[in-house]
Amino acid sequence: MDEKRKIVFNQETEEDQVYSLSLRPSSMSEFVGQKDVVKNLRVSILAARQRKEPIEHMLFSGPPGLGKTSLANIVAHEMGARITVTSGPAIDRAGDLIGILTNLEAGDILFIDEIHRLSKVVEEFLYPAMESFKIDFTVDKGPYAKTINFNLKPFTLIGATTRSGLLSSPLRDRFGIFHHLDFYNPEELSEIVMRSAKKLNVVIDQSSAQEISLRARGTPRIANRLLRRVRDYAQVKTPDAQITKAIVQEAMQTLRIDQTGLDDVDRKLLNVIQNSYNGGPVGIETLAATLNEEVDTLVDVVEPYLLKIGFLKRTPRGRELTDISIKHIKSASCQDLPQKI
Ligand code: ADP
Repeated sequence: MDEKRKIVFNQETEEDQVYSLSLRPSSMSEFVGQKDVVKNLRVSILAARQRKEPIEHMLFSGPPGLGKTSLANIVAHEMGARITVTSGPAIDRAGDLIGILTNLEAGDILFIDEIHRLSKVVEEFLYPAMESFKIDFTVDKGPYAKTINFNLKPFTLIGATTRSGLLSSPLRDRFGIFHHLDFYNPEELSEIVMRSAKKLNVVIDQSSAQEISLRARGTPRIANRLLRRVRDYAQVKTPDAQITKAIVQEAMQTLRIDQTGLDDVDRKLLNVIQNSYNGGPVGIETLAATLNEEVDTLVDVVEPYLLKIGFLKRTPRGRELTDISIKHIKSASCQDLPQKI
């Protein structure tokens, strides 16, 4: 595992992908939280089913790990539809997209993750496909150019994005249903931890699950990952592999995750703003360069939770610390973590 991968805890790892198949909720009733989104989706699904039509194109936005892919799969399941899964960066050329679109059957769902990362050229093929289920493809150039028209079967596009602001307005306008997913509260995360523990055959009590949920940055993917790390820790460090609140706390110490759920990258970011830029404001590019991180990683993965819990302010002149984050970085709970192992 490379250094960056290890410390940016909120990014999806291969291990997450493997486990997400078994831990992913398979129906609306298993999907915890996001009450309004679920309520509205149930209505859209029922209405489309009654009309015997594919459901309208929909866009899910929100930080990584909050359930966008899970929801797309659930919509497909509840519509009794097949789902084809791809992502913006995976569709290199218009030909790739045309291949995918022409293989869709009536009512199928096409899920494009990170849809804001589609190239402009590919994106333009999506407009007529979404609007009128047609694509026009020009082959050759100059006098030999000819246009081939494809008629597509009516399908539903579900896009997911961590950065809805980056979507071009022509693309955004072609979606009929929009849902933004927000961070989960600790009670919802506890419920997710308890359900995942059951699926993984891990015995855990309510207070240990709560302890995990408080450190999971409002994110189900992180809650599930912490549960797996705690399971490993209990297995190796205790004679009976019993998970207790104290074991959760010890495991978190070794993972260098503090009581607020912040990890090394978060603390480094806060410390750099405090020590090198006097508490801010500092531009995101400058911060990324100082931290040796990608701007996108900071904006998509690290910042959203810090903004959510009021540890960071985004101002026109850059990022600024707040009183509570300054207090946090000076606090014992943050500084007493063991050295990196
Ligand atoms: P995203 O597509 O937003 O990055 P995913 O749908 O891949 O997020 O979710 C990551 C993991 O978190 C899933 O595999 C699932 O185990 C868990 N998860 C996400 N949302 C929920 C939820 N509402 N209820 C239960 N588990 C969830």
